[in-house]
Amino acid sequence: MHPELDKMKKEDNIFTIPLAGLPFGHTDYQYVINDSFFEDRDYSEVKKGVVNLHLGVEKMETMFVLTLNFEGKVVLQCDRCGDDYEQGIKDSAEIYLKYGAEKDDEDEDVIIITKNDSEFDLSDLIYEYIILSLPIHRTHDDESLCNQEVLAKLHNFSQVEATPEEEENPWKQMMKDLKSKIDK
Ligand SMILES: [Zn+2]
Repeated sequence: MHPELDKMKKEDNIFTIPLAGLPFGHTDYQYVINDSFFEDRDYSEVKKGVVNLHLGVEKMETMFVLTLNFEGKVVLQCDRCGDDYEQGIKDSAEIYLKYGAEKDDEDEDVIIITKNDSEFDLSDLIYEYIILSLPIHRTHDDESLCNQEVLAKLHNFSQVEATPEEEENPWKQMMKDLKSKIDK
């Protein structure tokens, strides 16, 4: 890894933007999100990953427009076999930090700030957007990449489960009834 990037990730609050200190206009930030970002969040279903994140900040009189673009890989648990697998992710988002205006509930991407906020920590937002970018169905790309031993066991199990106790057959039932009458 590039030594400067390595140094950057070890600094605290690298995702904190100095709202007051930023010059008006555009500022770019480049981050590499790694395992420690996810490990810091005990509740995170993602425990490992490498995600390149580009953050653009446009500072204006009344607001900041933040543009997030990220791309990378995270480790997830496969829904099919339970093993870990690498999931590619890629997404972008636009977030607005607006001074003092009324919160519009319909717009999730608008965050209200006050003139007293001299900085803003983006780390939770970045985490949320990464989680939002994950697919609903989380599996290895192809079933052949799954843990075959586990799949075989699951297959046997579901076959046993799926076998009906007694097939519904009117003739069988009739024979049973007849037999019981004869036996009496
Ligand atoms: Zn799998």
